[in-house]
Amino acid sequence: MEEKEKSDFIRDIINDDLKTNKYQGRVHTRFPPEPNGYLHIGHAKSICLNSGIARDYNGKFNLRFDDTNPSKEEQEYVDSIVEDVRWLGGDFEDRLYFASDYFGTMYELAVQLITKGKAFVCDLNAEEMRLTRGTLTEPGKESPYRNRSVAENLDLFSRMKNGEFPNGAKTLRAKIDMASPNINLRDPVMYRIVHEHHHRQKDAWCIYPTYDWAHGIEDSLERITHSICTLEFENHRPLYDWYLEELGVYRPQQIEFARLNLSYTVLSKRKLLRLVNEGHVSGWDDPRMPTIAGFRRRGYTAASIKNFCDIIGVAKRDSTIDVTLLEYSIREDLNKHSQRAMAVLNPLRVVITNYPEGATEECTAVNNPEDENAGTRQVPFARELFIDQDDFREVPPPKYFRLSPGMEVRLKYAYIIKCESVVKDAQGNVTEVRCTYDPESKSGMAGAGRKVKATIHWVSAAHAKDVEVRLYDRLFVKENPDEAEEGKDFLSNLNPDSLQVVKHCKVEAMLGNAAAGEGYQFERTGYFSVDPKDSRPGVPVFNRVVTLKDTWAKIEQRHR
Ligand code: ATP
Ligand code: MG
Repeated sequence: MEEKEKSDFIRDIINDDLKTNKYQGRVHTRFPPEPNGYLHIGHAKSICLNSGIARDYNGKFNLRFDDTNPSKEEQEYVDSIVEDVRWLGGDFEDRLYFASDYFGTMYELAVQLITKGKAFVCDLNAEEMRLTRGTLTEPGKESPYRNRSVAENLDLFSRMKNGEFPNGAKTLRAKIDMASPNINLRDPVMYRIVHEHHHRQKDAWCIYPTYDWAHGIEDSLERITHSICTLEFENHRPLYDWYLEELGVYRPQQIEFARLNLSYTVLSKRKLLRLVNEGHVSGWDDPRMPTIAGFRRRGYTAASIKNFCDIIGVAKRDSTIDVTLLEYSIREDLNKHSQRAMAVLNPLRVVITNYPEGATEECTAVNNPEDENAGTRQVPFARELFIDQDDFREVPPPKYFRLSPGMEVRLKYAYIIKCESVVKDAQGNVTEVRCTYDPESKSGMAGAGRKVKATIHWVSAAHAKDVEVRLYDRLFVKENPDEAEEGKDFLSNLNPDSLQVVKHCKVEAMLGNAAAGEGYQFERTGYFSVDPKDSRPGVPVFNRVVTLKDTWAKIEQRHR
């Protein structure tokens, strides 16, 4: 199938730039994460957008760490981000950069601005600066240090760099316009004094550039053509342009798009960090986390995440995407590619009383009805089986067509059975269902075409393997988790039942040897994937990737 050519407002801008030859036909994008957490699905949108544009225009794509803030950055995050970007197919080739590698150049450029009379060292502290910044309706006040001489500024700035002053004692500020209607242009801070260890630069620096000062320089040095960022930077664009223009260096085009918001999900690293640090999840890669690492561990495929990003597209206006759309994308992909298997999550023993004791026969099961080439496999049938407790009711409610006393069902790929009696324990719970089978009802036999109202899955008790299965549900019960009661925060909307561990599921023997990361559709139950962290050879733990259908929507409707 031929892929439809994508079209959106960003590609329109690029097409125009190509027509006017603005960048000599070049297209060069980047993804600039700050290594202060793991990447989430919002970042995936940015990665797919930036690397997708580079791919479609035969351009280039850089991965650049925006590591300009020493306090929260760590190597662990750098490593995870590189892995995640690669996994999503973001092809940065050998262009992996660190903003901190440009600190020397940024310093020299700052000296240039001071020399031009366009930057000054200011002694106001953060609070004083806030008080003199003005408001949306009132202009700010000029700093009393604004008219220091170039020589004094150069001297003070070099002493700031040399560590002569404590944190917060001085800043370097651009000299623009305290009366600008755009607050970002009211003499913004370019450098702060921060005596802290940097994950790459170690203790080489004690002044650190602000995002606005650093980002345009990074883009310019890397000859980025289109610097794509989220909407909150729209008001920063005039400053981005001002710095590069004053420096007289190459200027990329900043373009803003709406960030991804997902229902029932938080997508802020600060909040995700709290979930991890306060133990609400097992880590950044907990399969319930909306992180790329969490999704990968849970069994989401890169293809389905990319497809989701394509479906939602890019827009200029903020909106919230329904998380069921993401789940739909996962299901679509897994349905096409997953090997089918039979697995019984809540086993109930069935004994076929007219089937010979000790006998076994093979039944032919289809590996993937969506894929002719996937073939078939043999599953063993015997006198004792397990079916799911859900598929039996001693007293069936109206319209219940599965197994109940006197009723018949078909066992998938095998025979029709009829429930003759039940065995109960002292508490009256059904512990065993006794059935007879119709020996002529299997595929290829005279009664194969006989119709019954339900088909259920099963496994042979003697052949089945015992495995642990983890069922995940949404991490939050509220569509907008930030909507909390007075005095409470998003954590009050956590779903207490987001993880259900089922210890003794009975599964087809082949699943006992399933390897980490392998995915299956458990027939009638959902998509499952072998947890790469907690599984051992021969002892797989299965994560439920996603249910077969959107059961959540149904449950919600019932509650209304
Ligand atoms: P968060 O708000 O989650 O803490 P951030 O914006 O601080 O994220 P960065 O590491 O600075 O995280 O982001 C790297 C890139 O990813 C930026 O270009 C940013 O615009 C983009 N990005 C971050 N969150 C989203 C999102 N929800 N949707 C789309 N793009 C995003
Ligand atoms: Mg950021």
